[in-house]
Amino acid sequence: MPTTTHLPSGRTHHWVGAAIVSMGHGDTKRAEHAARTGRHVLDDRTRVEVLEVYCARCRVKYSRRSCAAPCTGVMANAG
Ligand SMILES: [Zn+2]
Repeated sequence: MPTTTHLPSGRTHHWVGAAIVSMGHGDTKRAEHAARTGRHVLDDRTRVEVLEVYCARCRVKYSRRSCAAPCTGVMANAG
């Protein structure tokens, strides 16, 4: 089975990673800034732990099988 699948534009998944970024121990400036702004700029030594990779549009979890399937583009209903 070929590993590359060419799907029509708009039917491919947009993979994103849900990650944890350490704010350090006792580093109140970094933690305070991130809590206040919702943003944190990574330096080149920051290690990021990726918890999960999924499609931002249809929320399917990444796998070889889901990667080969077209994206439905349907957002998960939270309610
Ligand atoms: Zn998708």
